[in-house]
Amino acid sequence: MAELDVRKPLPAITPEAKTFWDNAAEQKLTIQRCQACQAWVWTPKPLCNECGSDKVVWTPMSGKGEVYSFTVIRQVVGRAASKSFEPDIPYVIAWVDLEEGPRLITNIIGCPVDKVELGMKVTVQFEKASEKIWLPKFKPA
Ligand SMILES: [Zn+2]
Repeated sequence: MAELDVRKPLPAITPEAKTFWDNAAEQKLTIQRCQACQAWVWTPKPLCNECGSDKVVWTPMSGKGEVYSFTVIRQVVGRAASKSFEPDIPYVIAWVDLEEGPRLITNIIGCPVDKVELGMKVTVQFEKASEKIWLPKFKPA
């Protein structure tokens, strides 16, 4: 587990996303799924993006996926908050396709940045970012 670093900007726990963060704190990755049309709803919303139904239900994910795309961050620039990421350099920001379908923006951890590749199989690992927020990141499977 990464060292707790409260200087970094954290996601807001909105009413729509509270269940996501509550589940993440229990090491469970969940995504909303529309019960009317079966579409995945990500990011969290009260209504389905596809059909407008309010029958969106939090659904457990396997936590398995693969790297769709990624970039390696080798320097930080700009706002002061960005400086809080400096100790992590170099690090990877990636799109990960979950095996169930949804695509998340996340970090790849647990391997050298030059070992990350497209299509790499990964599995979720939650990192504690605050008392209430555990971030879903992904490591090589
Ligand atoms: Zn729908």
